[in-house]
Amino acid sequence: MSKIIAVLPGDGIGPEIIAEAVKLLNTLNQSHGLDIQLEEGLIGGAAIDVTGKPLPDATLELVKKSDAVLLGAVGGTKWEPLPIAIRPEKGLLGLRSELGLFANLRPAILFPELANASTLKPEVVVGLDILIVRELTGGIYFGKPRGVRKLDNGERQGFNTLVYDTHEIERIARVGFESAMKRQRRLCSVDKANVLEATELWREIVIEISNDYPEVELTHMYVDNAAMQLVRFPKQFDVMVTNNMFGDILSDLASQLTGSIGMLPSASLDSNGKGMYEPIHGSAPDIAGRNIANPLATILSVAMLLRYSLKLPELADKVEHAVSKVLQDGLRTADIRQDGKTVVSTREMGDAIVAALN
Ligand code: NAD
Repeated sequence: MSKIIAVLPGDGIGPEIIAEAVKLLNTLNQSHGLDIQLEEGLIGGAAIDVTGKPLPDATLELVKKSDAVLLGAVGGTKWEPLPIAIRPEKGLLGLRSELGLFANLRPAILFPELANASTLKPEVVVGLDILIVRELTGGIYFGKPRGVRKLDNGERQGFNTLVYDTHEIERIARVGFESAMKRQRRLCSVDKANVLEATELWREIVIEISNDYPEVELTHMYVDNAAMQLVRFPKQFDVMVTNNMFGDILSDLASQLTGSIGMLPSASLDSNGKGMYEPIHGSAPDIAGRNIANPLATILSVAMLLRYSLKLPELADKVEHAVSKVLQDGLRTADIRQDGKTVVSTREMGDAIVAALN
């Protein structure tokens, strides 16, 4: 039976970068008989405009029956005046929690050709290969109570709750350890156990789980230090595991080590390996509609989809090699432009990837 892939372009540059990923999937489908069916759905601002909701029921139905989800990005200034509860970003958070996608894998790998595109010195980033494992369905982004309330003294007070249950920490810690087992067997757990009780528990549970993985060298780091170390000496890290908000921030930081946020893919997995694949960047309203966005993070997300959901690691390697090849050939989108290299559009980059596959 064909596998269904839900395709959710979203807002801003979302439709532009997803078009290139779809081009790639259709090419692979023809050349390698993937037996996949792509079905498009609405999410985010695009969904609000049509249905009034950031995550319409039809989209939820589609993603639930799908084998994998490919997402562009959501959000934009147009929808910012809306209450938080019905903004585009809520559609994405809803999707993650409805599908139970608790494990977000964010590899930060530097393609050697982009060593000079990073704002850090080449010797600091050449050879960089970090995997950030971010907890995705808990913590302060979901914790209750939350809101803005009026105090007796007439002031307003904003509040959110950082909350983690043991089972949530256990399962993400296991993903961290399992990932480390497939790599250099080093896991750094990032917390703020010196001031936040929820992350004190996090550390305790991670240590407990480490007993099942004696081959993995476990270290702990406070998040403020981790941010500093990522810039000072990022190659010290193999796998980092952390909570939802810390992972959000640290992975954006790590993206810049690789040259551009337009280079970083991600996979969000449930406990059975069903996944949603998306670039880590947002909808980039500042460059939307200009055919200049970098589609490589989305194309590398397709590689992750092939590897984790379709169980086609060789084909995933092939896509990653195509990205290397195109960069070696000197093609660059504007965000990774370098002297002496050719700046290409979003569509031209997508075409070059398809050509490089052959
Ligand atoms: P952003 O990631 O959209 O953009 C940050 C900067 O990086 C911008 O200068 C943008 O032009 C650039 N950039 C991002 N992706 C790029 C690409 N593929 N190629 C070239 N340059 C790229 O973050 P932001 O500006 O903070 O947020 C914009 C909107 O996106 C907001 O509405 C925000 O809520 C939303 N957002 C969505 C997601 C998501 O859908 N997963 C993630 C983050 C932010």
